[in-house]
Amino acid sequence: MSGRVGLLSLPKLDARIPQWSLDSLEFRKCPLCQGDNRPALLRPDQLPVAYCGTCGLWYVSSLPPSEEISKLYRGYRFSFRPRDLSLSYANKLLADGDAMTHDVRLNRLSALSGSLEGKRLLEIGCGCGELLVGALHRRASVFGNDVSPESCRFVGELLHIPVCEGPLSAVAFEREFGQMDIVVMSNLIEHPVEPLATFESALSVLKPAGLLLILTPNGGAASDQPSSASQWVGFRVDLEHLQYLSARTVSTLAAKYRCDIEHLETFGYPGLQGIDRLPASSFAANRSLKGLIKAQLKKSDRVRKVVRTVRAFRSPDPPDPRCGTYHLLTVLRKRSGAERDPGSRLDSAT
Ligand SMILES: [Zn+2]
Repeated sequence: MSGRVGLLSLPKLDARIPQWSLDSLEFRKCPLCQGDNRPALLRPDQLPVAYCGTCGLWYVSSLPPSEEISKLYRGYRFSFRPRDLSLSYANKLLADGDAMTHDVRLNRLSALSGSLEGKRLLEIGCGCGELLVGALHRRASVFGNDVSPESCRFVGELLHIPVCEGPLSAVAFEREFGQMDIVVMSNLIEHPVEPLATFESALSVLKPAGLLLILTPNGGAASDQPSSASQWVGFRVDLEHLQYLSARTVSTLAAKYRCDIEHLETFGYPGLQGIDRLPASSFAANRSLKGLIKAQLKKSDRVRKVVRTVRAFRSPDPPDPRCGTYHLLTVLRKRSGAERDPGSRLDSAT
């Protein structure tokens, strides 16, 4: 507790605040290079964040008990971030070949690999499988992995995509499904307690010259100074995040794991609409009278058109994502014939 005294405390913004056992926090070194850094800021969930000058990473520097973190992710799509996991949603995804036409991740991967047709693609942390279905529509051969049992059931049973549940074991995955041309980690690397293990697993299942796409909040937008970092909205939203990579972090990782950076960009804004309200469980909402009436109305084409028109008038144009810097998207290429040097250390980067 005493480690938090005197830290710059950030005001609440996101209504979803995990309830951590603050009396049981454990100090954490930089999860990428083991650098020993003092915390600089206190998030609204009372967890301290520190900056690692060695690898350019902002990270939560005292962790709640691991069981509390695992529990949050086990029911992630069920309670913390409720999603529609119904058969009708699965069928809608599978039927809509145009839904992901403008997806920046799939478009960057298509551009870098010529085409996704015939490519073997794994998404680690696949959630409800929207990206996988998008890749399927581009004729890729897709595989999923997630720690949430509800997500895996949805992806495996309703989308009929091969999926493995739990933290990815590279050896077990490769034994069952073989090596991949592409691995995607979209909004994932900011979550695990040991992000380096996740990164290493992703590289392990990639073929030589395969592509690893990482999309994550851009910690580089926070700068490296606590006074300006305190203005960054990323430390006040999505408080399940445990680390925030920057372009410098990506560059350090690429150098140490012998990858080439094929693509690096920042764009967009955090989703703040409705963030000050707690989410209703999709299951509870579907069972309520209001949910039933809404579901019936949604079946009418005329009602759907009216709702779309009203929304178009009510919502102002969204800001141009190219002007924002909230997301960091990078694509690394695993070098052919160059495996990771097991003796390499991130903190010896030059
Ligand atoms: Zn570090």
